[in-house]
Amino acid sequence: MAPSLAIKKKKQTIAEDSAGRPALLLDWYDRHRRALPWRPLSGERADPYRVWLSEIMLQQTGVKTVGPYFEKFLARWPDVDALGRASLDDVLRMWAGLGYYSRARNLHACALAVLRDHGGVFPDTEEGLRSLPGIGPYTAAAIAAIAFGRRTMPVDGNIERVISRLFAVEEPLPPAKPLIQQLATTLLGASRAGDSAQALMDLGASICTPKKPACALCALNDDCAARARGDQETFPRKAPKKTGALRRGAAFIITRGDEILVRTRPEKGLLGGMTEVPTSRWLAAQDDKAALKQAPMLRGIARWHRKAGVVTHVFTHFPLQLVVYTADVSARARAPEGMRWVPISTLWDEALPNVMRKVIAHGLREKHPHIVRTR
Ligand code: SF4
Repeated sequence: MAPSLAIKKKKQTIAEDSAGRPALLLDWYDRHRRALPWRPLSGERADPYRVWLSEIMLQQTGVKTVGPYFEKFLARWPDVDALGRASLDDVLRMWAGLGYYSRARNLHACALAVLRDHGGVFPDTEEGLRSLPGIGPYTAAAIAAIAFGRRTMPVDGNIERVISRLFAVEEPLPPAKPLIQQLATTLLGASRAGDSAQALMDLGASICTPKKPACALCALNDDCAARARGDQETFPRKAPKKTGALRRGAAFIITRGDEILVRTRPEKGLLGGMTEVPTSRWLAAQDDKAALKQAPMLRGIARWHRKAGVVTHVFTHFPLQLVVYTADVSARARAPEGMRWVPISTLWDEALPNVMRKVIAHGLREKHPHIVRTR
């Protein structure tokens, strides 16, 4: 065969194989789809409320962690109307432990917007969905495809991995995102867009895993470029990560009998609206002395007891290290302005972010082992 003819033939074969990918994928999905609490049974219509709720929860959080939270939310607020009528405080409390709390505030704001501006019905286009609080391009595409069958491909981390391997994308992430988006769209079936997307997500989660992908079981293994080269695990290529500088501070656990002093963080900013014990500011160049000077002023604190060790927590943009101080005050001690006493027995009902759960467990471990065990 003449060389030009050979190349033409090869291109044609790839095109034929690629054209078959969407069907192969859907066929695999019909046989191996994961059973997830927010997914309807095969052939049933997806409920936009469930799809939206799960997609917001799944932002930055894994399927296993989200499952019980999703069930709890659904039992308490079975539809967008019920969630829109809930108080933000209740939503934050129910969300406590899931992290990235701006999602909970947006969830509540979004439910209100759907009731107020859309008569309680989610918009069925990407554009309409993107106009709602907390719904970015990915989430809009996911809801549009899964709940409304719109022909669009939401690209999450699992899909990025599958696509970068399938096409051996050399450009590192995040600059490679637009290219991956474009390539992923070629895997959409003529119909069933939501199933195509979920099929790729499932393939990434169960077969094309970050380590040791099970290529022998993969529906797309016949024309996977990375598999042909044998370097699947090196994809996706990633640009080196920049992490923020370590910040340091002190947290103050003050007890009054069976109560503990807490306050609510400002609505805007990191952990907005969440409950915390008083802390110093969190700064990069802060020593223990400077942090201790920012302790709340309460009558009756003779001395602070510094707990051994530190509590560490990693936020998206910086790691944090907190020294924990404890003190007891008499039954007559008043809470400083902007703070309040809450019973230790109901502390876990508060909207406590994970970093505060760690701080409280660290500070109360000896005196209140029961609270630490039941958190
Ligand atoms: S063949 Fe292997 S590397 Fe390629 S998409 Fe399938 S599981 Fe991933």
